[in-house]
Amino acid sequence: MKPLQGQKALVTGGTSGIGAALVIGFATAGAAIGINYRGPAEKAETLAEEIRKDGGEALILKADMSKETQVIKMFKTFTGEFGRLDILVVNAGLQQDAPVTQMTLEQWRTVLDTNLTGAFLCAREAIKLFIAQGPAPVSRARGKIICMSSVHQLIPWAGHVNYAASKGGLMLMMQSLAQEVAEKKIRVNGIAPGAIKTRINEEVWSDPGNLEKLLELIPYGRIGEPEDVTKAAVWLASDDSDYVNGATLFVDGGMSLYPGFRANG
Ligand code: BGC
Repeated sequence: MKPLQGQKALVTGGTSGIGAALVIGFATAGAAIGINYRGPAEKAETLAEEIRKDGGEALILKADMSKETQVIKMFKTFTGEFGRLDILVVNAGLQQDAPVTQMTLEQWRTVLDTNLTGAFLCAREAIKLFIAQGPAPVSRARGKIICMSSVHQLIPWAGHVNYAASKGGLMLMMQSLAQEVAEKKIRVNGIAPGAIKTRINEEVWSDPGNLEKLLELIPYGRIGEPEDVTKAAVWLASDDSDYVNGATLFVDGGMSLYPGFRANG
């Protein structure tokens, strides 16, 4: 049997980068998928079609994660279609980089609103549902939440103070929620990807000089692929990780291991 067979999963920010890979990975693992997106519907529709062609179930859900009414509506539509929710992956996230002296309040807010407030809104709605819908027919936990964080929940990042603050906040949100709802048989965990080859960091990996500098920060010697993250997420969502709660799984090739100390200190 597939690890997520019969489960219903919602992935926010599900049309690009890690999110798109998560959607395909979860569908391949047997889950029915809600694909959240914010921009044009095209990519979401293509992904949904691909899943349906392979015999899976997919639903596309347009909503801006920073808007409470849109988030609430998204959950209503999801359960209207699928009946229940088993897995939420809070994945929608963005960067708006600037040196602190040039960072506008709008840039600060935009990043915090999506990466942290959006995560809170989604987690809150999912937890309400998990409690209301009772024990899950196909999983030991009543519900599972995975927060897509970053190595920057740990590693300070000059020029990205809004992003790093959002991910640091996300980590403590995840841990506090895990502590609060564990007794309801709800698991909340995080994944902290390092440098994964997606559009968010294309400026770095598409330039040979920048890529070389980046690789100095990755002891394992390669940039990550979205599928590296997906495999970890499928495990964290499955019963194979049933006793894992409030944990962060670093999927970073060792980026968080202070690589600067390899030949120094
Ligand atoms: C960021 C990427 C960056 C990586 C490692 C991620 O969270 O979104 O832009 O390459 O962290 O620094």
